[in-house]
Amino acid sequence: MTVTTHITQETLQLDGRALINGRRVESLSGKSFDCISPVDGRILTTVARCAEADIDVAVSAARTAFDDQRWRGLAPAQRKRILLHFADLLQKHGDELALLETLDMGKPIRYSRSVDVNSAANCIRWYGEAIDKIYDEIAPTPSTALALITREPMGVVGVIVPWNYPMIMAAWKIAPALASGNSVVLKPSEKSPLTALRMADLALEAGVPPGVLNVVTGYGPEAGSPLALHLDVDCIAFTGSTRVGKQIHVMAGQSNLKRAWTELGGKSPNIVFADCPDLDRAVEAAVGSIFFNQGESCNAPSRLFVEASIKEQFLEKALALVPAYAPGNPLNSSTVMGAIVDKVQMNSVLRYIDIGKTEGAKLLAGGEQTLLETGGYYIQPTIFDAVHTDMAIAREEIFGPVLSVLSFTDAADVVHQANQSVYGLQAAVWTRDINKALGVARALRAGTVHVNQYDEDDITVPFGGYKQSGVGRDKSLHAFDKYTETKTTWIRIDSPV
Ligand code: NAD
Repeated sequence: MTVTTHITQETLQLDGRALINGRRVESLSGKSFDCISPVDGRILTTVARCAEADIDVAVSAARTAFDDQRWRGLAPAQRKRILLHFADLLQKHGDELALLETLDMGKPIRYSRSVDVNSAANCIRWYGEAIDKIYDEIAPTPSTALALITREPMGVVGVIVPWNYPMIMAAWKIAPALASGNSVVLKPSEKSPLTALRMADLALEAGVPPGVLNVVTGYGPEAGSPLALHLDVDCIAFTGSTRVGKQIHVMAGQSNLKRAWTELGGKSPNIVFADCPDLDRAVEAAVGSIFFNQGESCNAPSRLFVEASIKEQFLEKALALVPAYAPGNPLNSSTVMGAIVDKVQMNSVLRYIDIGKTEGAKLLAGGEQTLLETGGYYIQPTIFDAVHTDMAIAREEIFGPVLSVLSFTDAADVVHQANQSVYGLQAAVWTRDINKALGVARALRAGTVHVNQYDEDDITVPFGGYKQSGVGRDKSLHAFDKYTETKTTWIRIDSPV
């Protein structure tokens, strides 16, 4: 059964032009590229192939909008009203956005509607709500002075995002950036540009003035690098791979020392002790979280550590769940695992599966491309046992539906193994012993540690990583730190009394 929405593939309007200064435009060179759906390999539309000249125009529009104060000059309560309207419009157009997201990057429509649209709208709403409730500070100086510590928008914020949660990743950055009064130039991934463009249409409709939110489409080196290198961009907020994230910091340093924030890769350890309070729940979370979004989640618990004494029992239960994750047409409302974003990513995941076999890991489930007859890109849910920390499939981010299972003997052993990673995004520990839970949580080098659950989440908590998982935090009030400068205004007081 195909999901029923009042928008259908036939009535869906596809517009791949960039959005600069409030208008949809072709690239200045006239070049475009094909936007291919991973669902069945067909061309959905063409997308503007922006390059340095287009980025210049977008940054200039954003700078003008910032300087003439058409947005930052509004009272916070007024920006709030517009952002709340924007969030409402995202919900109103939820069916359309969900369909675009699924066609563009292959995730099941049940999740693009219930998770991605709702989360993106909630994020815009939350930062809109927050902005007229935050106060600045007065420093505890001597009585001969009054020192105001105020937050000011940075100016022009460049945003570069990946394809795995296109709407959510964009919202996590544009919401706090816009709420605090900045202008934004957003570059979505070339693999999933369509929802970012529609979001920006809806922001305009909600009343975000032209030039304040611009979307430039194109490839990383052609459109992303000029943004990261631009001398008139004050801040670059990036989500993507660690490889490109490192280049972003270099580009920021090479150009104008713009503030650079990076949310990067992960290889998150999920640690299950024998005294886990609910083994079935732990199994469901371990399997469900690695196969959610086809394994294309930065925080996917891709390294599963199970205490040796319960490993056999755990794996038996896990394997029983695997058939439920068989990939299917993402447009079908019952599908829980959809298509891999493109052929390049699919081949990369299949290569890691081959490496796992060569390294001597034991393939327990999956391991193959499937649904070839659709013309799309699908991989079976895959589980490897007998993985060791020195294997590539335990060290490198695969970014696909592949679970690596390792075992351990005690808390010290597993903390040592879990921390043997260049990444430090998330982790989980399952135990009924509060001392063990807190002790291990403290010892794990990760931005978030889950205890007796995985993947529960809320806009109120920071998201980001230790080590090479990035610099800075998305979500929560902490995200405002990324998009505001701190100013001190020191006023001398010559009191007559
Ligand atoms: P990617 O690094 O290849 O691309 C991300 C973005 O950067 C895209 O828009 C791309 O066009 C752009 N880009 C590529 N090369 C560039 C260059 N030289 N200069 C400027 N921009 C460039 O990553 P991806 O494959 O799109 O996304 C997957 C990665 O994102 C994974 O590593 C995943 O873990 C990570 N991710 C992290 C988080 C987080 O919050 N930590 C969230 C989602 C995804």
